[in-house]
Amino acid sequence: MSKILLLATRNQGKKKEMQQILKDLPVEIITLEDIDELPEIIEDGATFVENASKKAQQTAALSGYTSLADDSGLVVDALDGKPGIYSARFAGEEADDNKNNEKLLFMLKNIETAKRTARFICAVAVSDPTGHTRVVTGECEGKIAWEKKGTGGFGYDPLFVPAGREESFAQLTPEEKNSISHRARALKKARTIIEELFEMI
Ligand code: IMP
Repeated sequence: MSKILLLATRNQGKKKEMQQILKDLPVEIITLEDIDELPEIIEDGATFVENASKKAQQTAALSGYTSLADDSGLVVDALDGKPGIYSARFAGEEADDNKNNEKLLFMLKNIETAKRTARFICAVAVSDPTGHTRVVTGECEGKIAWEKKGTGGFGYDPLFVPAGREESFAQLTPEEKNSISHRARALKKARTIIEELFEMI
């Protein structure tokens, strides 16, 4: 079996982080941009785990490559877990990161600092073309800031202040974010699965 791992994401922010975190794995990492276009996969699962599994499984079956997919989002306690699996389209189907952040700030405008607790959750699924799939998760606890801070990262990064820090994810260097993020934590666990799949250990 050739050692090629396909990253099943069109989100440039996620892709960059995944490539950085997995860069020393002895496999060739390719992205959806390196292969013929695949049909869009509908994310209709009820959980991060279901969505990640479906994305990885269908991408592997359609492409013929062992595939890794992430489904992730922000869970805000004061909003009963919203935006959750709807994080990417919180402010509507055509929403961008800025609109999603503005909506989040608006919904939390009367919530005091102590109650602005939240966490990012990431499910990472790895699937081979026969449908054999494994899923792991990672979390990062934090709070939602009162205004956007920083220009790095993507998505809700300017509003998310990880526990134990003053800066938002968007103010950290990529290396700092990748040392504590939900995605890094999930990918660290996924690394073992990838190694086993490609029989490297
Ligand atoms: P997905 O493509 O359905 O997994 O959507 C994930 C969405 O969750 C992204 O579009 C972001 O809005 C949000 N999100 C996930 N991970 C992060 C992160 O590391 N930083 C900021 N926002 C994130």
